Amino acid sequence: MLQGVIVKAYNSYYYVQDNHKTIMCTLRGRFKKERFSLLVGDRVGYEITNEDKGVIEEILPRQSMLIRPMVANVDQVVLAFAAANPDINTVLIDRFLVLAELSNLEIVLCINKMDYADNQEVDSIIALYRNIGYTVLPLSAKTGWGLDALRDRLYDKITAFAGPSGVGKSTLLNALQPGLALATGSVSEKIGRGKHTTRYAELLPFANSGFVVDTPGFSLAEFNHLEEKHIMHCFREFHPLIEACKFSSCIHIREPQCAVKQAVADGTVSQQRYDSYQEIVLEIQANKKGLY
Ligand code: GDP
Ligand code: ZN
Repeated sequence: MLQGVIVKAYNSYYYVQDNHKTIMCTLRGRFKKERFSLLVGDRVGYEITNEDKGVIEEILPRQSMLIRPMVANVDQVVLAFAAANPDINTVLIDRFLVLAELSNLEIVLCINKMDYADNQEVDSIIALYRNIGYTVLPLSAKTGWGLDALRDRLYDKITAFAGPSGVGKSTLLNALQPGLALATGSVSEKIGRGKHTTRYAELLPFANSGFVVDTPGFSLAEFNHLEEKHIMHCFREFHPLIEACKFSSCIHIREPQCAVKQAVADGTVSQQRYDSYQEIVLEIQANKKGLY
């Protein structure tokens, strides 16, 4: 049986990408009841029926699932920020990191517009996140500097791109592969901005191997749905400390004998990261009480 990846679902057809061909496929009858669970990103086995058409005969096990947008088998999230213009904002970085950590996927932090950065602040921010254990790729979409490292990372993977607007995401995608950013733009347009519009994700073939998916649904509004006790797990450097707090229910805000707060006092956890953590937790608590 032939195998491919669903790159688009539209009008009851599944567009299956197999090497450099895209085959419009229908779903074998016995799968019809599972129809709504079949996602872009799913790997399938198919047979050619006539000319360019095909039929999906087999759905391979799913490795992961991104919720917003709904995409199966995403391997990693690339979070893009800028060194300047807009100013680098660690609070925003930490917030996007929390959302990315919740997805349980590999995370790559890109700091674009490094052609602007002649300040030590950016260097120390890069060092901070590397120390925590993140892969940080400084680069410039404009000059091309540092792009190869990102290109290597995208090879043979399904990558979700996210980041605040204005950091150069489209420029970056376009620098990696001309036409790619235009394609993501058209996807966003099709989705529309209405609250109740369905989100259709589409995988865009990257170079000769791999796919990228734009993540218009990956937004900071998601914080409204989070539980404060989950946030600590999204701060990697807290992991080895959490067990050492006096209270097992410690959320590291007001509790006494808290190992996380002690680590901040000792300087082993960054004050700035702790401030971000505290801000997110307090916001969720206030939200619950209806203060926001
Ligand atoms: P997006 O909203 O994240 O997709 O951002 P755009 O790709 O539209 O870029 C926003 C602005 O930043 C545009 O004016 C780009 O020309 C500029 N830009 C993008 N990448 C770079 C870069 O590496 N260096 C500099 N100096 N400007 C860049
Ligand atoms: Zn604690």
